[in-house]
Amino acid sequence: MTACAYCGREWKWKDTFKRLASFKNTLECPYCKKSQFQTASSKQKTSMLIVSPSLLLPLFVMFSLSLPLLLLCYVTVFLLSPLLVKLTKEDSPLW
Ligand SMILES: [Zn+2]
Repeated sequence: MTACAYCGREWKWKDTFKRLASFKNTLECPYCKKSQFQTASSKQKTSMLIVSPSLLLPLFVMFSLSLPLLLLCYVTVFLLSPLLVKLTKEDSPLW
């Protein structure tokens, strides 16, 4: 799970998800309230995860799979994304 870069306390999935969904550059710790950033590798992993259902789009078209199944893929990756978040005190570029 995600741990604060300052106080070291583990964030609940719900706290991480809310902060990710705000699309802000900084993530504030729910315990010590200090702002911090996602590590570069964490940003890369969450970005790849969120983009991954789009990469499957040709398969959905080729095999005439249903739109609800594709939406389920998107919802699943959004729900899984907080599990990949790692935090750091310094901001770093995505690549
Ligand atoms: Zn903290």
